Amino acid sequence: MIEWPPRLKLAQLPTPITKLEKFSQRLDGVNIWVKRDELTGTEVSGNKIRKLEFSIAEALQQSCDTLITCGGVQSNHCRATAVLGVRLGLKVHLILRGERPQTLEGNLLMDYLSGAEISYLPQSEWRRHEELAAELQNQYLADGNKAFFIPIGASDEVGLWGYIAACEELKQDFERLEIDPEYIVTATGSGGTQGGLIVGAQLFELDCQIAAFNVSDDAAYFENKIRADVTLWKQRYKQQFDGEQFKINTIEGYVGSGYGIAGAEIFQTIKELAGSDGIFLDPVYTGKAFHGMVTELRKGEEGRLAGARDVVFIHTGGLFGVFPQQQNFSFD
Ligand SMILES: *Cc1c(COP(=O)(O)O)cnc(C)c1O
Repeated sequence: MIEWPPRLKLAQLPTPITKLEKFSQRLDGVNIWVKRDELTGTEVSGNKIRKLEFSIAEALQQSCDTLITCGGVQSNHCRATAVLGVRLGLKVHLILRGERPQTLEGNLLMDYLSGAEISYLPQSEWRRHEELAAELQNQYLADGNKAFFIPIGASDEVGLWGYIAACEELKQDFERLEIDPEYIVTATGSGGTQGGLIVGAQLFELDCQIAAFNVSDDAAYFENKIRADVTLWKQRYKQQFDGEQFKINTIEGYVGSGYGIAGAEIFQTIKELAGSDGIFLDPVYTGKAFHGMVTELRKGEEGRLAGARDVVFIHTGGLFGVFPQQQNFSFD
């Protein structure tokens, strides 16, 4: 039996799982299923809310009244935190990487609409963002507030629970649909979704591999990050879990020019899936992962998703990140 830590009910769960009837026909004998985690809510849509159910529960347990977190200017995680904070009556302070943009759009617009306090930290100083967060915590304390720090993407031993819990949901999905997928595919950025899925798949005995397409950094980074988070998780929650056994499968080669920068093929993929099945991907995360998945599936037994019959793609959200990049779509 799993002893769960404190958790808030914030997300619309369970999310649906749907088969891509039309898109799958383009792939010889492979069925693609989409776990619709872009439907965890409207303003709070995406994967981050699953982790924040645990992170914010922890903040409340520690009697905090303020949340501090950080990320890119178009961070989905920061936007979800800003919205959940205002709903729960918590003050939210975001540290965003870069300069304040001329136009406030997409996720950033929503951060402002939710009334979050925003500090910008230039890229050149980003390595000290956790220091800045600690300084802010001290300032809040001096003003009589207690601020809880959530790291980038809520990817730590607390947020790890989000996708561990999602595996319980997936297990029920697979039983109901009578499918036995060979792979669960996700985008990976701060590692918490990938790590949670790896641990959860083992705990709930899902007999499938977690294949993560990195949209930043490299496989070695995720190897270290996930092993570190899982070690802390085991210590903190006294979990019996074989930390040696699990395999971290990060599929490299689809970052493109860098985090948040997508090539024409990604915008084409977004257009194709929207046009075939009416499901919208984003250029920062899901578009790259989906493009990577399809490219590997098309390589068949030579590809890195060899043996695939049923593949479950976790749609981790990101829709609001489409609009700030809308000029990159082309239509004839
Ligand atoms: C944050 C994010 C991811 C990556 O999840 P991590 O847990 O940070 O690795 C994937 N897709 C979207 C849309 C995201 O916002």
